[in-house]
Order: sequence, then structure tokens, then C-alpha cells
Amino acid sequence: MKYLFGNWKMNMSLAEIKAFTRQSKVKLPSNIYVGVAVPSVYVGACEKLHKNMLLGVQNVSEYQKGAYTGEISANMLRDLDLDFCIVGHSERRGYFNETNTQVSEKIKRLQEYDILPILCVGETLKQYEKQETKQVLSSQLAGNLDNVDKFKQIIIAYEPVWAIGTGKVASEEIVAEICDYIKQEMHKIMGQNYPAIVLYGGSVSPENSLSLAKLPSVDGFLVGGASQNAEKFMSIAKNMIQGGEK
Ligand code: PEP
Repeated sequence: MKYLFGNWKMNMSLAEIKAFTRQSKVKLPSNIYVGVAVPSVYVGACEKLHKNMLLGVQNVSEYQKGAYTGEISANMLRDLDLDFCIVGHSERRGYFNETNTQVSEKIKRLQEYDILPILCVGETLKQYEKQETKQVLSSQLAGNLDNVDKFKQIIIAYEPVWAIGTGKVASEEIVAEICDYIKQEMHKIMGQNYPAIVLYGGSVSPENSLSLAKLPSVDGFLVGGASQNAEKFMSIAKNMIQGGEK
């Protein structure tokens, strides 16, 4: 099975969502899951999109319910019948100081309501240059997966921070090695039989996605910028399928 998820971040308007819904009605084979993480206020506007894709959001509260102004709970996401939620995106870790413990709590809340967490991990440019990638990933995974339910699926997205929105995609060698490393770490934490699903994210485009999709340790992509354009996003989906058939 292959996976393609988009992250619209704080982008898109109602008009753009309508156009995206129209343009993304492409028949896809049953061996690929395609989904988009939309801004939460647009979940209703994405109802039609929901018919051909998985629908998710980009964040959830670490709390169950209560006086947390501006927050959205996992229970609310369940009420809206959402399929998945991104957690631990580097923009949330960086701009909103989200800690490993908070990310872990968010995963637990999602699991309580059977919403698939897509956990983003990745090193900064400084850490990459100091060759600390594996160390950083191990510590993020250990912290984020601490005491989570090992019988429920969590998808990991390896997103080197230096590759996000920069146009600088990580090399095939790095992506292959690191996605494989994450799978090994997942097995250590979640158990040898855990289905370790690992996506790559960071400047994925129609141009570079075919060669990345051919890497055996890559199960799919998490796409930011290119997911806002239906034509580009669907072209990445086709490459994911074609690459997976190698
Ligand atoms: C992201 O924000 O998760 C991402 C991968 O962004 P981009 O594809 O634009 O690099």
C-alpha cells in the first residue's frame, strides 16, 4: 500500500478549495491512500473532497476538553468524521514551541478517538550539518511515542526541516537510509511486528517524486506546497503508484 498526504498549512480560500475539489476527481487505484490536511475551519467546505480522499487536519489539542480557548479536541475531530491528523510538524515545534511530551499527549488523544496520527520528525539544518540526524530522530521518536497505544497505527513522516518549503529535496541516499533507520527505531519502540509506515516530506514535487517513490523504504509522501495544486498533487500520486510498481 502507498500513501500520499497533503498539508495545506494556513493556505487556500473557499474558491480555491472548490477548484481543487473539481480538479482532483481523478480515478486512483485501490493500492494508494490519498488525503489532505486542511485548515480546521474549512472541514465543512471540504465535504465533497471527503468523498474521494481522506480528510484530516494539521493539529489537535493535547487536552480532552475544557477551558482551552482556541483549541480543538480529538473528540471534535471524531464528530466531524475526520480520518487523520498531523502532529509534531516542525512548524509547530519551531514556531509554537511544541515539546516531545505535548506531541505524545496529542497522539494519545487521537488514538482515544481512532483518528490516525501522522507524526512528523526531522532534524534542523544545524543538526544535519553536525551529523546528528539519527540521534535527533531517535530522541523525537522515543519522546513522542512514549506510552502510546502500540496496537493502533501511527504513520511517521520524515521531514528534514532544511528541506521543507525550500526547494532543497533530500538526496535519495539520505531518504533511503533515514526512512529505513526510522523503521528500525519504530520496531524497537512499538515491537518487531508493528507495521512501520514511513513517508518522506520536504519539497516533494511532480519532478522529483518518481525517483523518490522507487526507494523501497519510502511508503509515501507528505507534501506541503505542491498539495495546494490539484494537478501537481495528482501527478505526485501517479508517480507514487508508478514508483511503487518498480
Ligand atoms: C510540509 O510542510 O510538511 C512540507 C513537506 O512542505 P513542502 O512540501 O512545501 O516542503
